[in-house]
Amino acid sequence: MLNIIICGAPGSGKGTQSALIKDKYNLLHLSTGDLLRAEIAAKSDLGRVAESYIANGQLVPDSMIIDILDKAISEREAADTYNGLILDGFPRTVAQAEALEGLLKKHGKELSVLLDLAVDEAELVDRLIKRGQTSGRSDDNLETIKKRLDVYHEKTEPVNDYYKKQGKYVAIPGMGSIDEIFGRICEAIEKL
Ligand code: ADP
Repeated sequence: MLNIIICGAPGSGKGTQSALIKDKYNLLHLSTGDLLRAEIAAKSDLGRVAESYIANGQLVPDSMIIDILDKAISEREAADTYNGLILDGFPRTVAQAEALEGLLKKHGKELSVLLDLAVDEAELVDRLIKRGQTSGRSDDNLETIKKRLDVYHEKTEPVNDYYKKQGKYVAIPGMGSIDEIFGRICEAIEKL
């Protein structure tokens, strides 16, 4: 089994690379951002609460995210032909990382590695502004992007240390072409 966390600042390319990784290694791709946006589109109670946090560049409360992810793993692994999981956008806080241990154990899984996509801040802002021109996402505007980057430094970066201590952290240079970056990721996975 290959159970991967893909991590990095907003705009670092987690979603793009996850799509390539899941196809090559036959993994179940779970993006907490996508799961939340699906709840918003379905106008569920949960979606309504999540929407206000997302549009403000804030994180959705940990307990809500952990429930969503638990449900998503249970539902999707029923048709279990996957070789593992790729978690995209989770864990985003140390509390989520701690909860993930229990969650993986409950589903009989163990984490293989955290891949951290490292991208310069100016490039991140550039990519997100560009994405905002077509994504229609409420959080892809300059003011909210700046807030998301602050939240990332304050709450999500400490997650890297959590996995460094476990010897499961691998940094991937996230600048360059999509193919180049994907090549670096495959190399890191094959070394595991
Ligand atoms: P990006 O990585 O570009 O910020 P995502 O789609 O991963 O985009 O997340 C969009 C928003 O959804 C986040 O800014 C946050 O409000 C919410 N979100 C996603 N994942 C989590 C999480 N694990 N914990 C809390 N909030 C989350």
